[in-house]
Amino acid sequence: MNAKTLPRVDGARLWESLMDLARVGATEKGGVKRLALTDADRAGRDLVAGWCREAGLTVKVDRIGNIFARREGTDPARAPVMAGSHIDTQPSGGRFDGNYGVLAALEVVRTLEAHDIRTAAPVEVAIWTNEEGTRFQPVMMGSGVFAGVFELDAMLSRTDLDGRTVGAELKRIGYAGSAPCGRPVGAYFEAHIEQGPVLEDEKRTVGVVTGVMGLRWFQVTVTGQDSHAGPTPMHLRRDALLATSGMVQAVNLIALAHQPHGRATVGYLQVKPNSINVVPGEVTFSVDIRHAEGAGLDAMEASLRDALARIGAETGVEVAISDVSRFAPTAFDAGMVGRVREAVIGLGLSHMDIVSGAGHDAVYLAKIAPTAMIFVPCEGGISHNEVENAQPADLEAGCNVLLHAVLAFIGGHAGADRRAAVGPDAAGRHAAGMGAGLVDAVALLAAHAQPEGLVELIPVDAQGQGVAEILVLYEFGNFRVRRVGVPHVYRHV
Ligand SMILES: [Zn+2]
Repeated sequence: MNAKTLPRVDGARLWESLMDLARVGATEKGGVKRLALTDADRAGRDLVAGWCREAGLTVKVDRIGNIFARREGTDPARAPVMAGSHIDTQPSGGRFDGNYGVLAALEVVRTLEAHDIRTAAPVEVAIWTNEEGTRFQPVMMGSGVFAGVFELDAMLSRTDLDGRTVGAELKRIGYAGSAPCGRPVGAYFEAHIEQGPVLEDEKRTVGVVTGVMGLRWFQVTVTGQDSHAGPTPMHLRRDALLATSGMVQAVNLIALAHQPHGRATVGYLQVKPNSINVVPGEVTFSVDIRHAEGAGLDAMEASLRDALARIGAETGVEVAISDVSRFAPTAFDAGMVGRVREAVIGLGLSHMDIVSGAGHDAVYLAKIAPTAMIFVPCEGGISHNEVENAQPADLEAGCNVLLHAVLAFIGGHAGADRRAAVGPDAAGRHAAGMGAGLVDAVALLAAHAQPEGLVELIPVDAQGQGVAEILVLYEFGNFRVRRVGVPHVYRHV
């Protein structure tokens, strides 16, 4: 298939929408503060939902406030292909985190509309409620309810620091919808800024996200003995902080032993009594370990427990480890990741496979639908920060990947559905033998050949000469696709 002939998104229009949305809740330092279910969130939702309606989409809101803007397909039996992300932000958040995924999805739909491309499956833009988890916990609330990970009523009764509930705030801002949470989704794509420094460091435009790291959080309490810093000789001390310093080093070494996908961090540490002339008797600290694979996490946790026990014994302190939280790694659907990779290659973009170290709505969607993500670089890898920045050309490139991957997915299945509808071909053979890649190619070419084009498949001999007449005509949206057999060449007619 030839990606060069497929339509492209309008990068300037995408950038303009990003900048318009960034004005809602804009901060003085150039960032955005748009916490979930605040007035600013309502204004952002109103703005994007308005754009969706202008693009001809039907907007629906479910009971947890997720917004779905739908462009109908030609085949009512098809589950929607969704693309989206979130528009809530951190208190001192940036302009691109989440917003990019939503507006890239909108730009895909605007492009389909501008080129009058009808798709077999409906395409929906999804805006998930409260991804950030800043005002209301947990993170990824809306997508979690949609995917059945969280119970709706439990989430509606979650409160912020002022005691206001999710349910009451949804009503207050006018986004307590009536649609049930959860339904079949054909596929989910999410474009996102990387939020890390790897793509920039490697000078790649697109990250083909193969999955999301799992994580395990622990709280460690090290107990020694408080004693006076003067009278207590060095060999008679049980210094909890000294023991902890060795443990912090050990945590770092564990991650280094599990490259490239191991991460381990001690980010929180509390010393008691925290006084200049007292040998510390107790230290509490956190450990965050991450890995792309469950086996990697298991190995890292085992090493962590060994190291802490060993250092505790060597230094004469007691060590207690408690579990705080755990998320299993997510491996995205190989077929979906493949469509993203093919789209990137077709567009001639520099790219690399990457595993996300941060959670995204896509993690929960992956539980109910084939899912993939597309990363683009962000300046210095900085995110969750007002100075978060990304280049218009990179954002446009990622959006083109999203468009082509969506078309590839829909095309493939459109072909499959039509084959079933058409039945045996004129030669009495079931067309189901046709390869999925071929069906993709046909559907993509048909999409390109609009508004009146046809795509013809012609069997060829070893010299590349056409050898047979057309046997079967496929319908694809406004197009008809004629299939005759394999081997084949593609030709616009
Ligand atoms: Zn995000």
